[in-house]
Amino acid sequence: MSRKSLAPGFHPVRRDRLLQEEAPDAYKLRSKLAEPSVCPQCGAVFRAGRWLWDDIPKEAHHDTCPACHRVNDNYPAGYVNLGGAFFASHRDEIKNLVRHEEQRERSTHPLKRIMAFEEQSDALLVTTTDVHLARGIGDAVHQAYQGELEFHLKPDENLLRVTWAR
Ligand SMILES: [Zn+2]
Repeated sequence: MSRKSLAPGFHPVRRDRLLQEEAPDAYKLRSKLAEPSVCPQCGAVFRAGRWLWDDIPKEAHHDTCPACHRVNDNYPAGYVNLGGAFFASHRDEIKNLVRHEEQRERSTHPLKRIMAFEEQSDALLVTTTDVHLARGIGDAVHQAYQGELEFHLKPDENLLRVTWAR
C-alpha cells in the first residue's frame, strides 16, 4: 500500500487514544448555532446541542450543517484506505459492509456520511464527513475480516486516516 497517501501532520495513534466521545464537528461553525436550526441542504435538525433527524420545527433557523459544508468543500474529516490481496479478491463484499456501516450510523447521526469511494487498482479510499464514522468503518472491516488496522490522527484539524490491509 502506498505510504505517499499519508499527508504530513498525521501521527500514528492507538485506537484507545482516539476520542470516544461524540464531540460535535465545529467545521465552519462561526458561532454558537441558534436552536432549533435546520440544514437547508439535508434537512438535519440542530437541537439540544446535536444534529438529529427529526421533524423540522416551524420556527427553525437555517444553517448548513458541518457534513454538508464538508461535502460542498470536498473536505473530508475521515479517510479510510482499504487494501491488500485479500481486499482485492473480496472488494465488492467489503464495500457492501462499508456501505452498511454508513447506513447504520447515518440513520441516527446525520453528520456521519460517506463522501466518496475512490477506486484504486489495488485499494479503495473511502472519505467521510466524520472521524467517528471513519473509525467505525475501520472497526467493522477489522471485526469481520481481521487484518491490520492503523489509525493516524492530525490533531490540529481533527482529521483521521484509517488504514486497513489484508
Ligand atoms: Zn446538512
